[in-house]
Amino acid sequence: MIPRRRLPLRYADFRALLQDLGSTRQQARDAVAEFEAEFAAQMATPHAIAVASGRDALCLIVDALELGAGDEVIVPAYTLAELLPLLAARGVKIVPADVDPATFNVTCASVRARIGPRTRAILVLHESGAPCDVVALNALAEAHGIALIEDCAHAAGAAVSVDNVRRPVGGIGRAALFSLEANKALAAFGGGVVATRDAGLAQRIRARVAARPYRSGAVLRKYGFKLIEELGVRSPLYALAARILFAPQRAGAFESFYRRANQRIRVPHAFTGLQARWARLRLRELAARNARLNALWELFAHNLPQGFMAQTRTACGAPAFYNFVARYAGDSGALRQAAQRHGLDLGIGGEVMDDCARLLGYADCPGAATALREAVLIPCWDGMDERTAWRGLERLRAAAAEVA
Ligand SMILES: *Cc1c(COP(=O)(O)O)cnc(C)c1O
Repeated sequence: MIPRRRLPLRYADFRALLQDLGSTRQQARDAVAEFEAEFAAQMATPHAIAVASGRDALCLIVDALELGAGDEVIVPAYTLAELLPLLAARGVKIVPADVDPATFNVTCASVRARIGPRTRAILVLHESGAPCDVVALNALAEAHGIALIEDCAHAAGAAVSVDNVRRPVGGIGRAALFSLEANKALAAFGGGVVATRDAGLAQRIRARVAARPYRSGAVLRKYGFKLIEELGVRSPLYALAARILFAPQRAGAFESFYRRANQRIRVPHAFTGLQARWARLRLRELAARNARLNALWELFAHNLPQGFMAQTRTACGAPAFYNFVARYAGDSGALRQAAQRHGLDLGIGGEVMDDCARLLGYADCPGAATALREAVLIPCWDGMDERTAWRGLERLRAAAAEVA
């Protein structure tokens, strides 16, 4: 079975762990400060603050902007559903802006249609690493005196062009969140980064995270769990497990279990020295990683079977890699079952992203509904060799032929 994703199991990570074991609290603090400085330099943002997760970063930004009851926040209609309760808990009204199903991103028109007198912030996502029209969106937000927040969880290393100058995403809006979760490009087995050009905002967020407890256990536990999960995915038993867990009558229940296990918010703790070591390793390799994966992305996009259409990624800038996502107009549930029989583990529906408009009770976001119905995540990961890529494409073709 070709699994949906693979996490790199690397000796360098283990070595970083060993090096960290003997370090003092001061050395840990220095490692975090060095990571933040390197991150800020690479992402061309004045302030970068390492925090507990991408979702934690969003909460910190929203709180520092003092958003609350009576305020409206516009979010992408197609994004991670786990973000909604975080905003709802702050009493804000959440208003979805529809996405273009070709790019999976919001547009200036869809966001403009949702701006009202109470709108205080606009959250935009660079979906699967494809930059949204963030320069125009930021101009739109500024014209209305609204804060633009960039969700860069998928897009570390993506860039847009401003007056012919390359600008990494995350530095265009008022603030941005990055994720250092195990399945993201800058994996530090958990963690996140707030990036902002607003010194006051940065100061308020720093003051809050400085008071947090320092606990290294949770990160080590996650590293251990991810090692076990990864060995499971690589074992021959995975084919059987995937067919059981992703059977049509069970896939929904398993997905929510897996999400809960991974996304449980603990009491946010301070970013640790070990996380900083891992994140620095990833940061230094980020450009090379994106180059490797963008080449692999092209191979997939240019050799998809009939009936599939790859995400449009370059409409607004240079993409980074997160997942290979294509649209499939047929029955994606049947396709997934057929692909499993051929030894290919596809992600569909809410395993890719969620129709947040529907979850919020809005029925007027057809782009998000189309995205939810048609998006198919095709296995593609860092370190995948060309032979596996071609084998995956062959299995996809066989599965699609069977379903058609
Ligand atoms: C992963 C992700 C986040 C942040 O995730 P954390 O697990 O909290 O680090 C935010 N938005 C999107 C769209 C994501 O996929």
